[in-house]
Amino acid sequence: MRFVALLRGGLDIYDTRPPIADVKPSLHLIGLPTDQNSSFERGAAAAPGAIRTALFSGRGNLSTESGLEIGTDIMLTDCGDVPLLDVDAAADDALITLAITKAIEVGAIPLLLGGDHSVTFPIVAVLAKHYGPLNILHFDAHPDIYADFEGNPRSHASPFARILEGGHAKRIVQVGIRTLNRHCREQAERYSVEILPMLDFSAEHVPVLEGPLYISLDLDGLDPSEAPGVAHPEPGGLTVREVLSILAKQNAQIVGADIVELNPAKDVNDITAIMAAKLVREIAALVHHNHSGDTP
Ligand code: MN
Ligand code: MN
Repeated sequence: MRFVALLRGGLDIYDTRPPIADVKPSLHLIGLPTDQNSSFERGAAAAPGAIRTALFSGRGNLSTESGLEIGTDIMLTDCGDVPLLDVDAAADDALITLAITKAIEVGAIPLLLGGDHSVTFPIVAVLAKHYGPLNILHFDAHPDIYADFEGNPRSHASPFARILEGGHAKRIVQVGIRTLNRHCREQAERYSVEILPMLDFSAEHVPVLEGPLYISLDLDGLDPSEAPGVAHPEPGGLTVREVLSILAKQNAQIVGADIVELNPAKDVNDITAIMAAKLVREIAALVHHNHSGDTP
């Protein structure tokens, strides 16, 4: 049976109506337009709109590399953006918490579009409350485990420190790391974060994680030649093929994912937004595949 399982813009983010079709799992695409915890330059708040524009552009289609198609084989509902005010981190965390809670309540898997990377902390905190401590696969140039960054404990350089302190992670594996300083090395040792540095990196060395699995994808983990539209470009990064091959071998149940740190103001010909849109499609296919066990 073929059916249209893609909705755009018609759903209130706090609507608790059940999914429209019997396809499992239902993915909820949720934008988090915030950059108040960015440390260097703002702009990531504009990312959800830019990613949606690329995702739904007539330039491409909604197929994935495995052959599964969003809207035909994969049920993805675009829930719009959480109405963050970006002036009070605690107030916005409460809104993010509410949005994720609602997604869980209707049995949906949230796929979040940041925003800066600080959003991962409230997302993971809610998911861990529901599923228990998560296994996290984290793509990034930076480990994001500062105790605080320039006095801000909610900085986008600190979400994984907050997650670990809160006991929300069973295991964190970081891929793409190439900016490790002494403080973050000490933090990684303290919290037993598993860092696979870019020095002598091979995608084959990335482990297959168990569930419940969360994927956090900071676009600056990719090389700036492939993803220039970020606030902190760092040469020597991952290729998109490496990211896709690391994702493809993950076979655990995925309970949520985020794609963060696109800064449209720094982008070149929308190439990074287009990259983010592709990653939305591929992560959606992986969530679907790991949930259903379907072979395309
Ligand atoms: Mn990050
Ligand atoms: Mn980063």
